[in-house]
Amino acid sequence: MEYKIADYKTDVHNDWCAGCGDFGILNSIQMALFELEILPHKAAIFSGIGCSGKTPHFINTFGIHTLHGRVLPFAQGAKLSNPKLKIIAVGGDGDGLGIGSGHFVNAGRRNIDLTYIIFNNGVYGLTKGQASPTLKLGMKTKSLPQPNVNESINPIALACISGFTFIARGYSYDVRHLKEVIKKGIMHKGLSFIDVLQPCPTYNDINTKEWYQGFTTEENNPKIRIPKMYKMEDEGFNGNVNDQNEASVKIMNAIEKSKEWENRIPVGVFYENNLVPTFEERLQSRIENYDEYPPAVQKIMDNEGYPNINVDGLVDNLKIKSSP
Ligand code: SF4
Ligand code: MG
Repeated sequence: MEYKIADYKTDVHNDWCAGCGDFGILNSIQMALFELEILPHKAAIFSGIGCSGKTPHFINTFGIHTLHGRVLPFAQGAKLSNPKLKIIAVGGDGDGLGIGSGHFVNAGRRNIDLTYIIFNNGVYGLTKGQASPTLKLGMKTKSLPQPNVNESINPIALACISGFTFIARGYSYDVRHLKEVIKKGIMHKGLSFIDVLQPCPTYNDINTKEWYQGFTTEENNPKIRIPKMYKMEDEGFNGNVNDQNEASVKIMNAIEKSKEWENRIPVGVFYENNLVPTFEERLQSRIENYDEYPPAVQKIMDNEGYPNINVDGLVDNLKIKSSP
């Protein structure tokens, strides 16, 4: 059967606000899956809570809308249960870098082969625009009574030091570029992180679409605009590493490149390292036939539906421990 891009879409009503950057990210994910010929039943998309949490409803693959800050545990569990599935985790900046930050850091040291995309708009959009962990110090978006009193997290730098092995940034309304970045992230063997900058026209009245479109030249000629974003690949920056020594240099470069927002914002792949073993490969070295018989294909009940796991010993043990 020949698949079309329409096969990756659902007819679920979409209630995102008009002009929301989420639409560009949604389209990019659908196009990336289609162009990589990952069939809908071979992929699963997980989300946290927030506006971006609705994404799995709009993509015709397997998917679960999980809990606030808990998307990575679900996504990692799914991948370890069924390593043949392509797994994408999505969530907001508040979800992933606030309540979910512990999972973010610890996912980095496992390097499970999945792609995590953060919809980064600097606010908690679903709950009326409170400052999220990526909103810069001193910024006052329209829901805030006072300028933001907290310093912001730099997601790229955090991903670098946590151990993510593919780190990139895209912009939601450069769909052609973002789609290519997502494709690279999906094809990377290991844990990929993609920070996607997206306008929230309803609550972030500073980092708007117009703001991202850039600024005029010194002569203030409105016809000559310098876009905020520049593509690192256009400047010959290649995040790929070929040996471990090179990796540390590239990590430092990635962190350096991520210091932006004053003037220009780099997008593209900051860092890719294919030399680090995945968690699945480490499991395989300990569990015989893990890749052939992962949990998803193991038999868990007999023909009459009774579990085939004998827990008698465990129950006896518990009785002994709980007896006075
Ligand atoms: Fe998008 Fe912001 Fe509306 Fe949420 S509140 S749907 S992020 S524009
Ligand atoms: Mg947000």
